[in-house]
Formats: sequence, C-alpha cells, structure tokens
Amino acid sequence: MSQPKYKRILLKLSGEALSGADKKQVIDFDILQQFAKEVKTIVDAGVQVAVVIGGGNIFRGASVEKSGIDRVQGDHMGMLATVINSMAIQSSLEKFGMVTRLLSAIKMEQVAEPMIRRRAVRHLEKGRIVIFGAGTGNPYFTTDSAGALRAIEINADAVLKGTRVDGIYTADPEKDPNATRYEKISYDEALAKNLKIMDLTAFALCKENNLPIIVFDMNKPGNLLRLINGESVGTLVTN
Ligand code: UDP
Repeated sequence: MSQPKYKRILLKLSGEALSGADKKQVIDFDILQQFAKEVKTIVDAGVQVAVVIGGGNIFRGASVEKSGIDRVQGDHMGMLATVINSMAIQSSLEKFGMVTRLLSAIKMEQVAEPMIRRRAVRHLEKGRIVIFGAGTGNPYFTTDSAGALRAIEINADAVLKGTRVDGIYTADPEKDPNATRYEKISYDEALAKNLKIMDLTAFALCKENNLPIIVFDMNKPGNLLRLINGESVGTLVTN
C-alpha cells in the first residue's frame, strides 16, 4: 500500500455536525457511527489521528450573554459541552475497535486525562487516537483555535476541518450556482477575500506556524481516506 501523504493529522469537527442535518437530536448516533467508520479507514492506513470536536450542538458561550449568564461562565459551559461530545466520539471510536485517549484542558480526572503535550504525542506514537476535550481551557476562544493550537503542539502535518460542504467556494454554493471550489488557496488570499474558514485567532495560528488547513466534506464516505492519500479533496489552505 502507498504511504499516506499525511502521517499525523488533527481532525476538527463542529459540534453541530453531530446533531445531523435535521438537527432534531443533540447527538445523532448514526452520524457518530459514520464518523467512526471514516476515521477507522485512515487509522488502518497508519495515520496518527487527533480529534477536536466543538460544542455548538449543546452550548455556545457567546449566545447566552443576553440571558444573564456572563461570557466567561458561558464559555466554560461551552467547553464542558465539548467534553460531552468528545466522550460520545470516544465511545463510538472504541466500538469500532480503535484505541483512544481523551485529554481535557479542564481537569476532570474521572473522565479524562489532563492535557499534557508529551503524553498526547506518546499516545499518538502508540497508535491511539487522541481526543482533545474542553477546547483550549480558556474563555474567549473557540474549538477552531483549540484545533489549531493542539495541531501545532503535536506537530501535526495538517488540520482537517470536516464540514458539510466540500471545500471553500468563491461564493456561497447554496446561494450562488456559479460559485466554484478552490482546490488550493493561500492564507493571504483567503484573508484578503474574507473567506471565513476558521476564526481569525485560529487562522493566524495556522498561518504563523505554516500549518496547512484542509476544508472537506466529512459526510461523504471515503473522502477522509482519499484526502490522506493525496487526492484533491476539498480545499487546501497553505502558503
Ligand atoms: N469555548 C471556549 N474556549 C475554547 C473552546 C471553546 O470558551 O477554547 C467555548 C465557547 O463558548 C464556544 C463553545 O465552547 O462557543 C463551543 O465551542 P465552538 O463554538 O467552537 O463549537 P463548534 O462551533 O465547533 O461546535
């Protein structure tokens, strides 16, 4: 078998992706299974995998400010939401025979190991999937920033941002039929065109550390493996 193009990746998924297209459930267990199957294909190909999942299907700090919950408190609630999603993903990955470790940026020893970079790297070297929970552990950040930060910390070859669309488009493909997909785009061009790929903090981290971002459709079976094998899937953001 050919060598995968990326040997160590960080997969960033949004919390909302877990609730499915109709958003009827907080966590759609069919979607969880589908994700796990996709991840297994690349683990079997020898790729070291880390995962960061958002919490937007459960709670977003900024959305409750008006309701009297202050931002910092809300953000901590959001970070705890990511731990719930991380635990759900952990279980589904393990159901498919993968070995996982959940590391949390907020200490909660009964459910997760503390976030220790060297430990995370060691787990990856042993072929375990590392799930980073609780974002960065700090309010006013997002899980995109957590994804970028952890990817840099573990020296990942790329951040793979799994979304509902198959890459970055010149315009919103759901509104503009003439929109075309970028196969590759530079950080500077993406910034100049104000293409909102990740929030600015996350984006700046990637750019400054030369960490490629690949935006791709996680719902299309086989995409993740094709991407790992170097096929043109989604959009690559790089220098
Ligand atoms: N959050 C935070 N610090 C972090 C990561 C997340 O405060 O480092 C909080 C923030 O309130 C955020 C929520 O957790 O709204 C859920 O994360 P995010 O919005 O990134 O989830 P996603 O949109 O990817 O589902």
